[in-house]
Amino acid sequence: MPYTVPKLNDYSQSSLAKAASECIAACQAEAAQVRNDADLKSFRDRWMARKNGILTQINDLWLKGAPKDAKREAGIRVNELKARITELVDAAHVSSSTDSLAADAVDITLPGIRRPIGAEHPVIKTMHEIVGVFQKLGYSVAEGPVVETDYYNFESLNFPPNHPARDTQDTLFIAGQQSKPQRERLLLRTHTSPVQIRTMEQMRPPIRIVIPGTVHRNDPPDASHSPMFHQIEGLAVDTNITFGDLKGTLDHAMKALFGSNVKTHFRPSFFPFTEPSAELYVTCFICGGSGKRGSDPCRPCKQTGWIEVLGCGMVDPNVFEFVKDNGYDPKKVSGFAFGMGVDRLALLKYGVDDIQLFFQGDVRFLQQFA
Ligand SMILES: [Zn+2]
Repeated sequence: MPYTVPKLNDYSQSSLAKAASECIAACQAEAAQVRNDADLKSFRDRWMARKNGILTQINDLWLKGAPKDAKREAGIRVNELKARITELVDAAHVSSSTDSLAADAVDITLPGIRRPIGAEHPVIKTMHEIVGVFQKLGYSVAEGPVVETDYYNFESLNFPPNHPARDTQDTLFIAGQQSKPQRERLLLRTHTSPVQIRTMEQMRPPIRIVIPGTVHRNDPPDASHSPMFHQIEGLAVDTNITFGDLKGTLDHAMKALFGSNVKTHFRPSFFPFTEPSAELYVTCFICGGSGKRGSDPCRPCKQTGWIEVLGCGMVDPNVFEFVKDNGYDPKKVSGFAFGMGVDRLALLKYGVDDIQLFFQGDVRFLQQFA
């Protein structure tokens, strides 16, 4: 119950003394409750305010209301009380501000709180490095959906329905699509190549793009396979693009990535969406091309001295047919495309022997690359 000023009926010495001491006790109790500046202000106002503050009420009720013969005694008592209350209120000011200073104080001798700084995941770091090399060559970055239609993932990339080349990509299909026409059925993209068609639908030639992203295949996880992995795809289309441009661009990119003394080497290959197609090998950046590490065989290059890093080729004219209306007439433009597995390059680069380590999220493993 907050203190209220009682009316006095009895103006005897003892009764006045009792009322005064109750008032002082109440003021002391309230002073002890002051916790902050706002408390202090309302405490001071409650007791000292000229209009209806407790001291004013005491003046009105105890002094002005006193009978004539008790006025003198009451006046002395009230003046004493006022002095005491004023002292208490002033003291509350002082003690309250030292309390809050103590509470806000910072002990600068305590050790600080160390916040761990995050770092790029080795796969993302490798991806950024590769993308960076092509950005310096004037390539821009394009991205597309991970859930893709059969049309963009296969058909428009020259994988006709029922073509055996589709079997080489163990595809994860979205369930319950049987009622749709085949080209509209959804799947998890098996490569980043659908973004080539999506970009050519949006932008007229010339284009130069790199496409980083995640892809999925129905591969059971083991030391070199993961159902989810990362690719970077590249595409350049213009008039008069030749295989010489492809070789020059990729040779430059490999030297930028693996060091200026790596040699590049192209071997014929097959991809449905490029013709001719090739696999690009670089001299092993672990053994320097010798196939040996001291007296031991070099495992990453299987002692051959060469490491396959990507697939590439000249864009098949059949692919341009799907975007012919947007300026990609195969009789007028030509281009090259390439694609590489980022996780595999990160494995080689950091000498990691199990791809699963990249995706298990073990901080002790990942900290080594920070
Ligand atoms: Zn080697």
